[in-house]
Amino acid sequence: MMKVLKFGGSSVADATRMSQVLDIVHKALAGDNRVILVSSAIKGCTDALISMEEERYDPNLPYHRDRIHERHKAIVQRLFTGTERAEMLKELDELFNKLFSAPSEQYRNFGELFSTRILARKFACEGVKVKWLDSRELIKVSGRKSLLKDVTYNNIRSAVEACPDIQLFVVPGFVASYKNGPSTNLGRGGSDYSAAIYAAALHADVMEIWTDVPGMMTANPSVVPQAVTIPVLSYEAALELASRGAKVLYAPTVGPVMEEGIEFSIRNTFDPGQPGTIVRGHSQKEGGSWKGVTSTSDPNTEESVIALVGEGRPASARQRIISALSDAGISHIGEIRESAGLCLVSVLHVIERQALAAIHREFFEPGANTVIPVFIAGYGAVGRELVRLIGESSERISRRRGKDIVIMGLANSRKQIIDMKGILPSEAASRLSRSKEDSANFIFTVAKIAPKGSVFVDCTGSTLLNDAYYALFEHGINVVTSNRRSLAVPFVNYTALKQDARRHGVFFRYDTTVGNSLPVLESIASDANCSDSVESIEAVVSCTLNFILTTHESCGGLVPMAKLLQKAQADGLTERDPRTDLGGEDVLRKLLILAREAGVPLEKEDVKISPMLVKSFFTCPIEKFYDKMMKAERDFVLREKKLSAEGLRERFTAILRRDPKAAKGYRAEIKMVSYGPESPFYWISGTENVIVVHSENSSPLVVKGAGEGAREAAIGIIKDILS
Ligand code: ASP
Ligand code: MG
Repeated sequence: MMKVLKFGGSSVADATRMSQVLDIVHKALAGDNRVILVSSAIKGCTDALISMEEERYDPNLPYHRDRIHERHKAIVQRLFTGTERAEMLKELDELFNKLFSAPSEQYRNFGELFSTRILARKFACEGVKVKWLDSRELIKVSGRKSLLKDVTYNNIRSAVEACPDIQLFVVPGFVASYKNGPSTNLGRGGSDYSAAIYAAALHADVMEIWTDVPGMMTANPSVVPQAVTIPVLSYEAALELASRGAKVLYAPTVGPVMEEGIEFSIRNTFDPGQPGTIVRGHSQKEGGSWKGVTSTSDPNTEESVIALVGEGRPASARQRIISALSDAGISHIGEIRESAGLCLVSVLHVIERQALAAIHREFFEPGANTVIPVFIAGYGAVGRELVRLIGESSERISRRRGKDIVIMGLANSRKQIIDMKGILPSEAASRLSRSKEDSANFIFTVAKIAPKGSVFVDCTGSTLLNDAYYALFEHGINVVTSNRRSLAVPFVNYTALKQDARRHGVFFRYDTTVGNSLPVLESIASDANCSDSVESIEAVVSCTLNFILTTHESCGGLVPMAKLLQKAQADGLTERDPRTDLGGEDVLRKLLILAREAGVPLEKEDVKISPMLVKSFFTCPIEKFYDKMMKAERDFVLREKKLSAEGLRERFTAILRRDPKAAKGYRAEIKMVSYGPESPFYWISGTENVIVVHSENSSPLVVKGAGEGAREAAIGIIKDILS
């Protein structure tokens, strides 16, 4: 087998690296293999020689010359001993003398001579049948530096055929000569091309490009650390990547090997066990896919062109690129040009790296997570539970949904913390209590600094934040609220909020405001907005009333209604004054939200409320209130017994019913209603909520479940954040 192995400058940078090269080549020689070893100059050598040319080398300032000479001498000292060392040092001195007698524009062509002479002698010392060939004599180029293929290939073939006993030919990369004699080179990075020329001329079985990275990668790993090695690549895609910015391979290299159909690989000298990238012909059967992303920039235009390169005929990338960039906050993009397997995007140079990372994430990091920055206002029962639940479930969410919820801001009514690096849920409480920052401007600060696409969560009970929602929307920040007061505003304000969110392309979600985490609003809205129209909504959604009524029933009046209400109050189930619940105010808010979701522009004034208790209960001072309730206990028990004898149970129900005679086409009331066992309301237990929606064309929707509880609220909020 004939193999061509090419080593780049960092693979031969010093004696240690050169020893690794020796190992690799010895392995390649095993069996009856013949090897052409093509080497670059040692790392940095060509650059140093070029600066010498530019400085018009002054022998009184021997900085570069001495440094280059010293580095090679050090390698020789390490690799050789005895007479071999002396001879090699002498040869090196002679080469350096030749360097200075050459015209200065020729300096750069010496680096490969130094490195390959050392390698060839070392192999000879190790007993390998080795011959150094002078690429300058074999590789011929025209005056415009294009390869004179026929002469070159013939030269190479005859040189090799003339030495049938030689196992290993060591040749300098990069260098060549003009037809009429003088030395030149194949352009910066040209040693790869030299290897391809040798491989093609000799119909080599394999070519290996040994370098200091793991192969061709999905992106430049120093810009995109998530980049991975591309295992197999077509010639065309490799060429496209190389010519559009991938430094790992000199683009002209692909041509000669592609013409001869020689498969080649790009491998890492520092990790020789890895297969690297294999470049070969692409068959139609393999289909189309995107392979990598590179970029080139033009200093004159301040523009960079990012190239997404694929093979076969991958599906169009245009839309994915646009949305990936916009998710990354990049909206200002230039032209996008797409042809089969190639998509070019112009961006400003300043955002090149960011754009590369975003496109790479979209196409080559399938499991990559999106970060959702979250800012939470309100650290009461719900806020606290939300923070805790985020801590508890974030790993699962990350795994299953590919989204990382990161709390970046938290505020209670007095203090706030904002930390864009993230606030650990387990540290939230202590950090908030230690904070010295006043929370008065929390929401406006969030509007200013939160990344686009963040979610602001309102877990407060106040309407004060409402107006600031607009500022959030304007800055591209989504809002999730569990605070139904912020929605029970006049209909115009309610629709204005929703429209404004839509206009700014953000979401405004409040699914926990009715029925807690039950998926009720969503269901109603999708019916109402699309195919169906709502006939009626009946909602038994007061946790306080459900609790006292159902518990009173089940204990047969053993615990008086007043005591049950006190317990509900102590458990945090009621509003501060429990009469707000009894009076239907909270249910009213829920009914407004339900009706509006169904497309009915209901206002508070449209709803007739008949509370369970007569007016005097609501007007007396709170201390007298419980006394009055105790006194009424007999009536409660009697009423319950009477109903029970008829097989009925009473619930505090919010009702919206189509009525052509009513002002808005619907009648709305909140009142005590008796239900028999055929109704789901009859069977409510504890604080459970039940909502029944009848619509024109479909069978009734019944939603039943826990209507109360900070945990349920937190679950619902997370659902809103993620959906
Ligand atoms: N030594 C040359 C350069 O630095 C050629 C090569 O390394 O491929 O450009
Ligand atoms: Mg190179």
